[in-house]
Amino acid sequence: MKKYNFNAGPSILPREVIEATAAACLDFNGSGLSLMEISHRAKDFQPVVDEAVALFKELLNIPEGYSVLFLGGGASLEFCMVPYNFLEKKAAYLNTGVWATKAEKEAKLFGEVVEVASSADKNFTYIPRNFEIPTDADYLHITTNNTIYGTELREDLDSPIPLIADMSSDIFSRPLDVSKYALIYGGAQKNLSMAGVTFVIVKEDALGKVSRPIPTMLNYQTHVKKGSMFNTPPVVPIYCALQNLRYIKANGGVPAMEKLAKERAEIVYNEIDRNRLFVGTAQEDSRSLMNITFVLKDEYKELEKDFLDFATSKGMVGVKGHRDVGGFRASCYNAMSIEGVKALTACMQEYEKMH
Ligand SMILES: *Cc1c(COP(=O)(O)O)cnc(C)c1O
Repeated sequence: MKKYNFNAGPSILPREVIEATAAACLDFNGSGLSLMEISHRAKDFQPVVDEAVALFKELLNIPEGYSVLFLGGGASLEFCMVPYNFLEKKAAYLNTGVWATKAEKEAKLFGEVVEVASSADKNFTYIPRNFEIPTDADYLHITTNNTIYGTELREDLDSPIPLIADMSSDIFSRPLDVSKYALIYGGAQKNLSMAGVTFVIVKEDALGKVSRPIPTMLNYQTHVKKGSMFNTPPVVPIYCALQNLRYIKANGGVPAMEKLAKERAEIVYNEIDRNRLFVGTAQEDSRSLMNITFVLKDEYKELEKDFLDFATSKGMVGVKGHRDVGGFRASCYNAMSIEGVKALTACMQEYEKMH
């Protein structure tokens, strides 16, 4: 039976991306050696990083003056690196979920933190709007897509202070105005690559403004200077990212990814809204195109496990919701096909008929 991978992360990747990465793990560039056993400084590997950086810049229209980095540590290490490198006295955070809260917690180790707004009052089911940004803060941190709660901020905010965004789960799903950000980061394992690499897009002249000493590995300037090669970078995940960037380019670039994301999301949300059994958890104006969260209506709540078993028996993988939300979550990253979301909605329709 065909399986449809709705995992939230690590998550679905295009088949050809996985095959190209697997092939390089057996024989890299016809060298007779595996990608796993060559030096990251080998002359064959540098072009991999160079092309990945160039494709990042091309696909996201990144202006001059920005560096693209590939680091270790995951988005979670960025929660600490961001305040280390940017927080002198005070930082502003928009609290839209678990990941945003974790980012905020790290910043509190370095200085004063102002929460500009929070949707914790309604279990993070919406994105707060019209909040005030303190002009005396060093930066504003936002999480553009809340992977767990299925909410998304699909616009590039105008901020009077440097804007920093965690885009772990929606990078490459819509065109960005990168010039509005001082820094964008994310773990690769949602919409870019396999687990193990973290991407950072950083405006070079926004760095070097804090007075504290920064440990070498945690200093963005180290990695900017050394082109992500200060120490051994995660070579296989970078190679995998390159294959996916090539895939995005070959398939119409980021605008095409956005169009597909909208089509997929419309199919699933329409079914949630139509279906007698289900209800969406996110407020309509805050719905994510990447992580679609829904639950059974109160009167059908006892069917939760049964629906999961039913969906699993039809080939749906990873649709169980996060424990903080319950119910179901269909993560629809770039590699998810229209066929996949139609299989899911067919499954929901069939289940409705049974009850
Ligand atoms: C998954 C996720 C993280 C954590 O990423 P790690 O790479 O596991 O540290 C942070 N932020 C968001 C929005 C995520 O979806």
